[in-house]
Amino acid sequence: MKKDIRALSKDQLRTFFVENGDKAFRGNQVYEWLWNKSIHNFEDMTNISKSTREMLDAHFVINHIEVDSMQRSNDGTIKNAIKLHDGKIVESVLIPTETRTTACVSSQVGCSFDCKFCATARLKRMRNLNADEIYDQVVAIDKQSKHYHNRKLTNIVFMGMGEPLMNYNNVIKSIEKITSSEGLGMASRRITVSTSGVPKMIRKMADDQVKFNLAVSLHSAIDEVRTKIMPFNARFPLVELKEALEYWYAKTKRAITYEYVVWNGINDRKIDVDALVKYCKYVPCKVNLIEYNPIDDGEFQQASQNALNLYISNLEMHDISVTVRRSRGKDIDAACGQLANKS
Ligand code: SAH
Repeated sequence: MKKDIRALSKDQLRTFFVENGDKAFRGNQVYEWLWNKSIHNFEDMTNISKSTREMLDAHFVINHIEVDSMQRSNDGTIKNAIKLHDGKIVESVLIPTETRTTACVSSQVGCSFDCKFCATARLKRMRNLNADEIYDQVVAIDKQSKHYHNRKLTNIVFMGMGEPLMNYNNVIKSIEKITSSEGLGMASRRITVSTSGVPKMIRKMADDQVKFNLAVSLHSAIDEVRTKIMPFNARFPLVELKEALEYWYAKTKRAITYEYVVWNGINDRKIDVDALVKYCKYVPCKVNLIEYNPIDDGEFQQASQNALNLYISNLEMHDISVTVRRSRGKDIDAACGQLANKS
């Protein structure tokens, strides 16, 4: 079986050419075609000789994704069903606002975790995406952004399907490509990785001195409640998460964003609010209150405005920055937690 050439690093490509009697520099040229120019056929590498292209074709394939279908919301949001080389589907979303255009990308087919309120969790984890499959989603959305909104992508959030920290190496490799001048040349500070909270991996990111932003899907600062809605919390309880986040902050000096949905009868009591306020004191942070996007008519319902106001006033009283995030792309099931290959 031929190997996917995009699984090779630049150094490996250079070595390949040297071992095949060519110059190492040829590796740089090919690398640029593969990443910066995102071409999918060896024939299109016009500054590479025909015999070299044929040699590459004999050794390698260029795996790539395809936009299988696309839905456009009336608020400008575009949801893509992305077909991978093995036929599996993930979803990626383009979210335009007045000031930015954000790509929301997937990191796994399905998800490793089992959050009760999330549609992706019902798919279970099928496999991790490779770095190039993540990178390609960003390239595809950047193209759509230019085509439909006449501007480049400004931000990237790893908030699509999957748990990025359970596919850490590929996520990091994809970010290296996204930020590299040989890739998309985007700034790290425009990238946010969102996690359900895997303490060991948060520490690893801190050790690796990553330069992107970290968001944590908290949803409750009380173990009993959090374990009910995010069962893996039993394995990684809040105190361990807190210690990992303290470690993160000590090493990176970057504040954390907590994502938080308030549901009726689940986390809408004063003690829930107080627990969050207390949790927010551990590490500099801000809170993003996300609107719930129903995934069925089950047990989860968006809490009342009163409950939200209770959160907002108490957080503000303690000088904790809080924003309320309106959902976008709801009419096409493109909003947070709604990605489940329905299209
Ligand atoms: N696994 C990562 C990345 C997924 S991000 C994480 O958990 O952070 C998706 C975000 O949407 C998370 O904050 C998640 O908690 C939230 N979410 C999941 N289902 C949702 C739903 N039905 N409505 C609103 N937000 C939801």
